[in-house]
Amino acid sequence: MIEVKDLTKSYGNIRAVQDVSFEIRKGEVFGLLGPNGAGKTTIIKMLTTLSRPDAGRCMIDGFHVVEEPFEIKKRIGIVPQENNLDRELTAYENLLIYGMLHRVRDMKGEIRSALRMVDLWDRKDSLVSSFSGGMQRRLLLSRALLTVPSVLFLDEPSIGLDPQIRRQMWNVIRKTRIDGRTVVITTHYIEEAEALCDRVGILSKGKLIALDSPKNLKAMVGEYTAEFINNDGRLIQQVCRRREDALEMARGRDDGVTIRRSNLEDVFIKLTGERIE
Ligand code: ATP
Repeated sequence: MIEVKDLTKSYGNIRAVQDVSFEIRKGEVFGLLGPNGAGKTTIIKMLTTLSRPDAGRCMIDGFHVVEEPFEIKKRIGIVPQENNLDRELTAYENLLIYGMLHRVRDMKGEIRSALRMVDLWDRKDSLVSSFSGGMQRRLLLSRALLTVPSVLFLDEPSIGLDPQIRRQMWNVIRKTRIDGRTVVITTHYIEEAEALCDRVGILSKGKLIALDSPKNLKAMVGEYTAEFINNDGRLIQQVCRRREDALEMARGRDDGVTIRRSNLEDVFIKLTGERIE
């Protein structure tokens, strides 16, 4: 469905994306996870025709992203990181204008189903300026769904939302998977990647350093993490393959050791020595 090969992009002497390759299957929810500046948005921009790669190739549904941008645009929906809704218009009017620009045929029907998908149909006539942050992000998502795209790109879909509202957003995103739609999400929230994605590509400094299901990534580095404060007062997180190994680490420490299941943050730390969030 999506094929990315040796993708590379620099801004001056910043190497934003370096030789990144991956494939995404039809119907898959695929995540790009990494800290700020890792190159996630740059990859999304290249995949969605908004930025030209320096080198490498992206194909979507058999079409070349650089050479056939109109074919690509017909097939994709984008939820950008920045909120670019018109706050002085209603939810309905925002979708109507977008629909006219994109020549949506059954305008009324598609607006209704896109707003219903994100549970905003009842608020269709409210001004966007009266919406909470979470509602505005849901509206951005429904706008992207208006053209009934076969691939949906979500750039940090729940950025800035508090944890409870973020979970509501995840439920809405899960619903968008209908009819075998492929969903590509960038995030720096560990929980978001684990909650939504079938497979996750981990990015660090423009490079793809690991790619697999969350379960396999965690199994790769060790499923258990022992956490404790060392003699210098530093938090130590030691990833272990077996629970017994984690218990062994805890032995003899009476100052409190937590043994928990590893998460994708532990995977990132193990691979890079740095934290994501
Ligand atoms: P964030 O979550 O903060 O958006 P990201 O992983 O999406 O991070 P990118 O936005 O892709 O990262 O940025 C990757 C690198 O490229 C960063 O060092 C960033 O400063 C740089 N960069 C991105 N866009 C530009 C630009 N238009 N001009 C110059 N440098 C840029």
